[in-house]
Amino acid sequence: MNADERLRALPSVDEVLRELERLTAVYPRALVAQQVREAMEVARARARAGEALREGWVEAEVERRLGELASPSLRGVINATGVVLHTNLGRAPLAAFTPIRGYANLEYDLESGQRGKRDVHTGRLLQRLLGRPGIAVNNNAAAVYLALHELAAGGEVVISRGELIEIGDGFRIPEIMAESGATLREVGTTNRTRIEDYRAAITERTKVLLRVHPSNFRVVGFAERPQLRDLVALGRERGIPVYEDLGSGCVTDLRPLGLDEPVVGESLQAGVNLVSFSGDKLLGGPQAGILAGDAELVARLRRNPMYRALRLDKLIYQVLETTLRHLVMEAWDEIPALRMIRTSAKEIRQRAERLLGKVPKLEGELVRGRSVVGGGSTPEQSLETWLIAVRREEPERLERELRRGRPPVIARIQEGRLLMDLRTVFPEQDEELAEALERALG
Ligand SMILES: *Cc1c(COP(=O)(O)O)cnc(C)c1O
Repeated sequence: MNADERLRALPSVDEVLRELERLTAVYPRALVAQQVREAMEVARARARAGEALREGWVEAEVERRLGELASPSLRGVINATGVVLHTNLGRAPLAAFTPIRGYANLEYDLESGQRGKRDVHTGRLLQRLLGRPGIAVNNNAAAVYLALHELAAGGEVVISRGELIEIGDGFRIPEIMAESGATLREVGTTNRTRIEDYRAAITERTKVLLRVHPSNFRVVGFAERPQLRDLVALGRERGIPVYEDLGSGCVTDLRPLGLDEPVVGESLQAGVNLVSFSGDKLLGGPQAGILAGDAELVARLRRNPMYRALRLDKLIYQVLETTLRHLVMEAWDEIPALRMIRTSAKEIRQRAERLLGKVPKLEGELVRGRSVVGGGSTPEQSLETWLIAVRREEPERLERELRRGRPPVIARIQEGRLLMDLRTVFPEQDEELAEALERALG
């Protein structure tokens, strides 16, 4: 058959529609018709390109497309990568909570029967946790924007050249600052900035001294940046607020576990006037940006019209409140990301051994490795772990089978082996993972 004959051999839209009449009992007729037209277009293009389509291809394609439309695109996955705050897998997994589906006292004071404010639900807990008032917005990028827009629009922000960072997915500090209406006053060099550099840059237009935690890279060797307390002293002396973007909202000291992340409370105690950080990094909550600090500054941010545009939804308030309450109560293990970080290599090894026992045909072995904290932190921020390593001719095939399974299992491939780290698998998912492995092995 040549291309013309192939085109002529294709059924008409009406024929296909009649063939698929039964689908209109399940899906809206217009939707079925649209999918038929789209599938026909693909079929024609392929026929013109000289491809031979098997009998019934169009019908099958329409059913496949409709099935895809009818099932959730956003789904839960089993994260066997060992990256705790995996940006592509939604960063921090959420603490358990029962979503309020109906109405809620989001902006309603049950005591007085008057209109209330949505930020009270997290405000009290932030005050407890950080010792300062705080508010929440959509994410930390929004927090940086709001802070600079309110405090520095039309003026200058002094920042070290070593802190002009890009986090990933296009978050660049200099661009956010430009959008906020503030002008950047860069000081020092990439590797060295001294307190005198900040001092020399201050003019009557200076509105904020900004410090940014360079989460995802380290300047090693001949490097220097001023102590936070020196920056705070300079700000006080000149009456200019010091604002620190901490990136990851680490509220507990994780240094005993070998993770060197700045602790939010320490910055505030050092006298920083305003801090901001993400809700879904080391805080272990939902996507959010927290701003906390001097009452007068936080009140100004709260009044800025952009706060209204960047505010959180009730669902997010509910999860954020749950997370903050666990932190206040020091119930670390109720927060999945913190529990995963605190899990010992020994416990991970025991679970991995049990899993290997359950799925002998996997023929996996245990090897030492590192779990990565992720969420924009450096690769050095890692924890000792035990990995399940599976040697295969084509590990890509097993990886694909797992990824396309239900539930999807995300593993990684390294040096011809499929690697799985149970640190990021919830212990209650171990059974499900064993079953998913059985299925993927066929
Ligand atoms: C991650 C990060 C951000 C962006 O936070 P989002 O919550 O992802 O918007 C900003 N600044 C620093 C230093 C970060 O590490």
